[in-house]
Amino acid sequence: MPQTLFRKVWDLHSMRMLPNGQTQLYVGLHLIHEVTSPQAFDELHARGWPVAAPGRTFATVDHIVPTGLQVRPFEDAMAETMTSALERNCHRHGIPLFDLSSGLQGIVHVIGPELGLTQPGMTICCGDSHTSTHGAFGAIAFGIGTSQVRDVLASQTLALSPMKVRRIEVNGRLAPGVFAKDVILTIIGRLGVKGGTGYAYEYAGDAVDRMSMDERMTLCNMSIEGGARAGYVNPDDTTFDYLRGRKFVPSGDAFDRACAWWRGMASDADATYDDRVVLDAAAIEPTVTWGINPGQSIGVSGRIPRPADTSGADRTSIQEAVDFMGWQAGQEISGTKIDVAFVGSCTNGRLSDLREAAKIARGRKVAGHVRALVVPGSQAVRAAAEREGLHEVFRAAGFDWRGAGCSMCLAMNPDRLEGREICASTSNRNFKGRQGSPTGRTLLMSPAMVAAAAIAGEVVDVRRWEASQ
Ligand code: SF4
Repeated sequence: MPQTLFRKVWDLHSMRMLPNGQTQLYVGLHLIHEVTSPQAFDELHARGWPVAAPGRTFATVDHIVPTGLQVRPFEDAMAETMTSALERNCHRHGIPLFDLSSGLQGIVHVIGPELGLTQPGMTICCGDSHTSTHGAFGAIAFGIGTSQVRDVLASQTLALSPMKVRRIEVNGRLAPGVFAKDVILTIIGRLGVKGGTGYAYEYAGDAVDRMSMDERMTLCNMSIEGGARAGYVNPDDTTFDYLRGRKFVPSGDAFDRACAWWRGMASDADATYDDRVVLDAAAIEPTVTWGINPGQSIGVSGRIPRPADTSGADRTSIQEAVDFMGWQAGQEISGTKIDVAFVGSCTNGRLSDLREAAKIARGRKVAGHVRALVVPGSQAVRAAAEREGLHEVFRAAGFDWRGAGCSMCLAMNPDRLEGREICASTSNRNFKGRQGSPTGRTLLMSPAMVAAAAIAGEVVDVRRWEASQ
């Protein structure tokens, strides 16, 4: 019977049906970091349990580590405590840790793929919502809470209910200046932040087929912002070309055999889906969030919605967002003055993202009133960018060039907004307070759009700049 990739991976990893109707699912790869693991390890130790599969568990430091001065002990006592705890726990259980001295450290969803730990057909989990990123490789990957981190450490399994599968086809060509970030913001805007509840999203269509792995990761990364716990792209030659030669990927004949198996994990052509949605890529424009969740977005040529034009719950949430952000209903988003520009995060902190931002920044200057920072997603991304001279482009333009980490995505570290600052950000969440200030405001957009906003000092349509390259 024809099957989706989701069903094939789920069935291969199912160990047994539990009395409550959930499935006990084997976890192929468990990624851990310094913030959601200390308590899980404490609970494990309190029960005297070992880690079930240290060889399938990998650690990095990303959330709380500073991206400026990365000298130990960290100035922030909490960062030092959490990092030290991870080091102790990894040492005790024989778990590989990619720390600041490794040259391989970075955001957990950047280094997994980069090292080739993330592979098609796997089940992957991590104590971070944006684990859906790894689905770009044809894996079923999802975020888990701290108590589930404990469960996976203890058993390498998880109790889960199966998801339905919605196929989202994006067909046609994206216009110059329009990127995967604009696609996913458009999808979430159309289906809503809760539209994916109970679903895994399968992204397909010729626009997705043409995307690089970096772009597919951006797409899958934000599945969770649309309510879908997992999102994936079927593995193809683009996937295999990315994986070839990476540290944890088999080589030689074993790689060829792996590719054949991976290819077979893709959804069958005549698989049935619980739902299908089709989008026209050519109709997508550079997209900017105007509100306080990632579904509240408009094209850069659009206007802030008027609460009076809607009714019910929508009206309440639009009014709340308009009030918090300080908009005049109906005003254009283009021309909105920004204070901070942030290029980074597991959504858009990869080399291709930095290249797109650098294309815009080259030979230009950041506006005098804007604080602009570029934070590579990993030490490897940083090193590759420096080999290409991108750091010089950014520094010459007035961007701060930082060490790898989550930085201003969630501001658990010194990178944060102050007061009512408005930030043009390549990250994934624009919730109230997400970037460190309870009153700070976040406008999500693509790296090219953030770079253009940094230079103009306000939200601008990057398509005009792209045309002048
Ligand atoms: S960059 Fe943001 S979303 Fe990604 S892992 Fe770090 S905190 Fe989580």
